[in-house]
Amino acid sequence: MIASEMETAAQGRLELGLAGNGALRWAVADITDVMADARDRFDLWPVPAAALGRCLAGAALLQRLAQKTPSRLMLEVRGDGPILRVIAEADDEGNLRGMVGDAQVAVPDWPGGKLGVGRAVGKGYLRVMREYGGRSYQSQVELVSGEIGEDVAFYLQQSVQTRSAVLLGVLGKPSGVVAAGGMVVEVLPGAPEDAVALLESNIAGIRGVSHLIEEGGASHVVETVLAGLDREVKEVRPLRYRCRCSRERLRRHLVLLPAEDRDYLTEEGSIEADCAFCGARYRFTPEELTAEA
Ligand SMILES: [Zn+2]
Repeated sequence: MIASEMETAAQGRLELGLAGNGALRWAVADITDVMADARDRFDLWPVPAAALGRCLAGAALLQRLAQKTPSRLMLEVRGDGPILRVIAEADDEGNLRGMVGDAQVAVPDWPGGKLGVGRAVGKGYLRVMREYGGRSYQSQVELVSGEIGEDVAFYLQQSVQTRSAVLLGVLGKPSGVVAAGGMVVEVLPGAPEDAVALLESNIAGIRGVSHLIEEGGASHVVETVLAGLDREVKEVRPLRYRCRCSRERLRRHLVLLPAEDRDYLTEEGSIEADCAFCGARYRFTPEELTAEA
């Protein structure tokens, strides 16, 4: 416990459990602090912040809910809208990282005042990559709406043949991100219809998962979405924003650039490169990028 004390600053929380006498399997994630940190790090405008937060929560939930737990799961949304793409990764240690193609996109809200995330994403694809040790597997579905939650639900139905309710949300205020996270509830084969009907009516009654997180965190989401159903928590894990970039990894990448690009980059005497996932800046001398160490 002492070793993890330094990580308690910007932490999120993920819970995994069962409900309805084993008919439902669920996971909930509160990534409010993680997203508040990411928003400041990338200077995210509201729509890109919502898109990234929904994808990060979705990646964290899919990683834990997968039948065979992947060491890493990447969720990529790529569309023809102005945000271009959103990438979110979650690994088995609870580390999250992500990026958006354009952090400063603004689009009109949907009628009723909901952020136009689907407008910023456009038409395109959702790709999910699961990594097991050194092997990776991908599957891809067409976007339903670009609102991320519906797209993840469609992915689960098409690729994993699981009927699921997917709730993902980010609540922003002028002061910043005040709540972010989500919940996925899987309906297991043979689930009684009354349990499913209760789940559906509970979900129909909520204003949005981010409002529930703001009111009472992950446990309040679980109490509300699974109201009237017996439920048990099987696992609780911390989540955090942590990039896996390194100077050496980036150096190896830059060494592979064509010689003419490298000459161009080195003209000013040194080369600076920023990591797209965390903003870390690395500086190299031309010699480091020409000599293969
Ligand atoms: Zn990084």
